[in-house]
Amino acid sequence: MTVHPPRLRRGLPPVRSQPFERLPHTGRTMVLTFDDGPDPEYTPGILRTLRRYDVRAMFFVCGEMADIHPDLLRALADDGHVIGNHTWSHPLIPQLAPSEIRGELGRTSEVIEQISGLPPLWYRAPFGAWNRHSFEIGAELGMEPLAWTVDTLDWTEPGTGTIVSRVLDGAGPGVVVLSHDAGGDRSQSVTALRHYLPRLLDDGYRITVPRR
Ligand SMILES: [Zn+2]
Repeated sequence: MTVHPPRLRRGLPPVRSQPFERLPHTGRTMVLTFDDGPDPEYTPGILRTLRRYDVRAMFFVCGEMADIHPDLLRALADDGHVIGNHTWSHPLIPQLAPSEIRGELGRTSEVIEQISGLPPLWYRAPFGAWNRHSFEIGAELGMEPLAWTVDTLDWTEPGTGTIVSRVLDGAGPGVVVLSHDAGGDRSQSVTALRHYLPRLLDDGYRITVPRR
């Protein structure tokens, strides 16, 4: 396990007042993101599809899930996916005291670094509910906030076809897509990826992850 010493870490990002909602550069690129895992029921199926097309995605994991499934977190890292911080227990951040927000984000960054060898550089607020404290604490922990452009609403289990349509209809340069690989029955999300990913690639999109 490689843990980078502090001197090798990048400088802290600025304190944002809102999250990024698109990939911060242009071109026919898109980002696929999967929240709430890792989950042994659904994450492996998503990994298999991404591997088949040699595509990298972002996984915003919950610390408590990563802690229970370290093997899955390592599999994400081994495949070159970007692991983001989605808090420890998926609370509504605006209802927390700053010390609790620091605990939720800090503990999750620690477990990600312990298991994958690298601290996360991105975080995402559960339910997209950010506040000023979360931007300050995220920046202190060396992370940038990433929201999304297209919400598949896959957690409502609208049917595989509907999830596929939402992704394809919302596709565009710099678009960030939100799906889930845990938190309920996510079999529709797993199946939908097998359909929309090859279509996006056929349409000339490069599926990528942000670098900074
Ligand atoms: Zn979530």
